[in-house]
Amino acid sequence: MDFALSDEERAVRDTVRAFITREVMPLEAEVLRRERAHQPGLDHSEVRELQLKARKFGFWGLATPEEYGGMNLPAVLQSLIWTELGRTFVPFRFGGEADNILFHATEEQKREFLIPTIEGERRSCFAITEPGAGSDAANIRLSARRDGDDWILDGEKTFITGGHDADFAIVVAVTDREKGARNGGATAFLVDRSMGWRSEFIQTMGEGGPASLIFDGVRVPHRNILGEIGQGFTLGMEWIGKGRYTIPSHAIGIAERVLQMAIDYANTRETFGTKIGANQAIQWMIADSETELEAARWLVLRSAWTVDAGLDPRHASSMGKLYGAGMVNRVVDRVLQIHGGMGYTRELPIERWYRQVRLYRIFEGTDEMQRLIISRDLLRGYTKIGGHLA
Ligand SMILES: Cc1cc2nc3c(=O)[nH]c(=O)nc-3n(C[C@H](O)[C@H](O)[C@H](O)COP(=O)(O)OP(=O)(O)OC[C@H]3O[C@@H](n4cnc5c(N)ncnc54)[C@H](O)[C@@H]3O)c2cc1C
Repeated sequence: MDFALSDEERAVRDTVRAFITREVMPLEAEVLRRERAHQPGLDHSEVRELQLKARKFGFWGLATPEEYGGMNLPAVLQSLIWTELGRTFVPFRFGGEADNILFHATEEQKREFLIPTIEGERRSCFAITEPGAGSDAANIRLSARRDGDDWILDGEKTFITGGHDADFAIVVAVTDREKGARNGGATAFLVDRSMGWRSEFIQTMGEGGPASLIFDGVRVPHRNILGEIGQGFTLGMEWIGKGRYTIPSHAIGIAERVLQMAIDYANTRETFGTKIGANQAIQWMIADSETELEAARWLVLRSAWTVDAGLDPRHASSMGKLYGAGMVNRVVDRVLQIHGGMGYTRELPIERWYRQVRLYRIFEGTDEMQRLIISRDLLRGYTKIGGHLA
């Protein structure tokens, strides 16, 4: 058994780390200043400029196939890169990406939606959640009714990331209520904003925010169906599957960064004539955080490895998402505690991370949904205890 990174993995990881340290982290003070003035941390042109700089370093389209100019990296490498991105709160991600399910597009759709998204000329959002259907995504109601060569969409989506800025939405709608979403009754549509949907921004405890999308008789041409009629739910689950290892990978980077802050603080802050790090209470918080961080790292890397090995990654990914999301919440909470009153102020970014990571236990499958998947797999005998080593 070899737990080491290959030379290639290490080289890629180190190059990304150098880029983030040199080009992205120096923006942190300005991002905090803007966010505290209720402005976006970075505007789109600034993100794009950074993405083009990263492109020169060779980082463009981590998950995008080479024929579209991307790197098509294995999931393990992508996971390592998401961890590096997590080490800064600057809202940056590499360019050249598109929603994984957009690659199911027809040639015409690729020209209209996929390629401009990869190039950063158009912005997408993915919409399955509705006011009455979140965890129970199969209960969606937004309907698509056939009318000649078009479909008419009526209903509402909610909590859609990027929904207020997107030029187009990938919308999962009910096309056959009798069948039900899970059994071929839902279809994905590519819907331009110009076709008539509107968005309403939703304030959250995090920076930025999702949006509700309102469809009131929105007419969409038949040629804008993504994939096959009836394939919408499957595509939705494929979209969500990607986040099951990228979200906890990001969480690991956050935990690494804040834990180092706590160690530095414990080694300098003095009370009662000694460094606070001399107290067992502080040492235990550091020890527990490092232990949980390492446990999350290997769970998540194993789930990414499962993707690369062509195995069914769902069980491993659910464990990684559940544990990684919980771990980062516990670590940030302890780090805030170690910083005492300073941790609670807005002079330090810890409270920002505290608010940010709370989301990780909710979106793209709540903790409870991950537990449901993990236990169901075991109870019905689909998965053996011990995973691929069983
Ligand atoms: C900031 C943000 C961004 C998001 N981005 C997107 C996006 O881009 N696209 C998109 O489509 N959606 C998005 N979502 C939606 C997100 O995926 C849902 O919020 C999530 O799946 C939970 O659904 P819900 O909010 O309706 O909660 P509910 O499903 O109503 O659940 C409420 C609570 O009950 C629990 N629960 C529900 N059912 C069970 C059960 N059977 N057993 C035990 N516990 C249960 C849940 O775990 C939760 O704790 C986003 C959400 C947020 C907050």
